[in-house]
Amino acid sequence: MSRLNENSDSETRLSATETGFRHLAPRHQPQSVHEISDSLYAPFRDSELSVHLSGCNIDPIPFVKAESGEYRLLNGETMSPEFAESLGLDQLDELPEPPVEWQAEETREKILEQLDALKLEIALASAADGQQWIVWCNHVHGRLTAETEEAMVDIPFSLWGVRLVSGTELCPPYHCPFADVDTWNLAADDEGTISDANSMEICSETGKRLLRQKMETCHASGKLVDRSILMQCPVSGRFLLSQLAGQCVECHQTVEPSTLGRGRCDRCRNLQKVNRDHGFLQELFGHFDGLQRARKFKMAEQPDSWLVQAAIDGQTWRMVIGKQTLSVLTVARLNGWLRGWSRVDEGDWPDFLKSR
Ligand SMILES: [Zn+2]
Repeated sequence: MSRLNENSDSETRLSATETGFRHLAPRHQPQSVHEISDSLYAPFRDSELSVHLSGCNIDPIPFVKAESGEYRLLNGETMSPEFAESLGLDQLDELPEPPVEWQAEETREKILEQLDALKLEIALASAADGQQWIVWCNHVHGRLTAETEEAMVDIPFSLWGVRLVSGTELCPPYHCPFADVDTWNLAADDEGTISDANSMEICSETGKRLLRQKMETCHASGKLVDRSILMQCPVSGRFLLSQLAGQCVECHQTVEPSTLGRGRCDRCRNLQKVNRDHGFLQELFGHFDGLQRARKFKMAEQPDSWLVQAAIDGQTWRMVIGKQTLSVLTVARLNGWLRGWSRVDEGDWPDFLKSR
């Protein structure tokens, strides 16, 4: 019984809502994906990569007009007369039938609730016959996709249909997180990364076209080069082509030539005596037990490592040891001050460099 009553109540409400409202829409607003796709693609017309629509929804959004003449969204948000005009609200046609959002009871109820709340706030304009106007503007959202064999990127969009087709609003550019740039000029670099064509350069060594963020200037030649083929000088921290690097005659590190003076790197020329209680030595003693027997420590700091000189069992060693990892990077042994230093290959490293 009560169920029957509920049904009849809702039917009464439905007929009231259908007769109490008139539904309008901008005369020239797009109704279908077909009508907006060209406008979405337009900003990408000079792009090297083509884009295609991979998802699109068109949602009619209800507006009401206040007696003051201004248009409001049902959440109360107002819009300027200029914005209303750009939405085509100055040229409205009555819809032959309300949109599905109104015909579906659930969404209609929600709209009516919002309308009731809005009416408490402002006086709404109505037609001469006393019916309430509701204006439906199509909002479009979805995404464009650009792809290569290796990669694919999405370009999400969310805009008003009328503003899109009139050119007032453009599909937003693709934001490349790698280059941190917004672009409509999409291209793929030679590693397949999709980004902004203007943010790519040619590697002067390999001829590869790469995103600028993957490149570095070689400090020995001044050329812009693919970073992956550069080495980092352990002394200066700068990048260079390894074929242009030199080798220190003492510590035998491979370094940027400008750090060498008479064959000796800047750090070998600037070793400082240190006490055994030096923080990094204490770390080394904890890691390389045998090193505790060493004396006459001298050290020089590098960006990621320390150059450590130590005398042990009658021999003098120079070692490059990583700051974070405590890994031994190069070892050289003094053959006598007149005969100089020689590089010691990893297989011949002394026992005191074996970790605990
Ligand atoms: Zn050196």
